[in-house]
Amino acid sequence: MDKVKVLEKYLPPEAAPLIGRWIDYFKCEFKISRNRGTKFGDYRAPYQGKGHRISVNYDLNPYAFLVTTVHEFAHLHTFNEHKHKAKPHGTEWKHNFKKMMQPFFEKDIFPPDVKHAIISYLNNPAASSCSDLTLYRSLRKYDAPKEDIHTVEKLPIHALFKLKDGRIFRREEKLRKRYKCTEIATRRVYLFSPVAEVEVVND
Ligand SMILES: [Zn+2]
Repeated sequence: MDKVKVLEKYLPPEAAPLIGRWIDYFKCEFKISRNRGTKFGDYRAPYQGKGHRISVNYDLNPYAFLVTTVHEFAHLHTFNEHKHKAKPHGTEWKHNFKKMMQPFFEKDIFPPDVKHAIISYLNNPAASSCSDLTLYRSLRKYDAPKEDIHTVEKLPIHALFKLKDGRIFRREEKLRKRYKCTEIATRRVYLFSPVAEVEVVND
């Protein structure tokens, strides 16, 4: 099947032709990958005869898929310009990410709240992939609703929840940025990110 046709299933359709051209222009192997839980996407620099490789999780909503794709292409472009001399999310990468985001802003692809979150993310010197909670939350709003999956911050205090590995926790009070949660089986206390995805347990 035509590359752009495939990309249109994952991206906002107006964004697909340009991403298709980048794949050709940068001679990049672009893979739509299974969900890896800890990351949305990945860039690998040329190594042992292999060229540039980018992969993006298949289950992101179209806006999150586009932001992640541009994020990874900014790594590729930064590698071409600076090889391993530039830091992964340093000033060179940020400059390229900003520049490569422009054509999609010009096409008015993003809803206003997402656009606003991306712009403040671009202006935040500490920005990296998903450490920006405002950007992450505004992208998440466009996900199809998942049953029984909630984020820790949405749970009432003392609610029980389960992780993918089956361990059960109780949500306790919020410390500065994270939530204290007690593992029921061991009574050990862990700190959870407010946007960690958990399954609600009905007791
Ligand atoms: Zn990155």
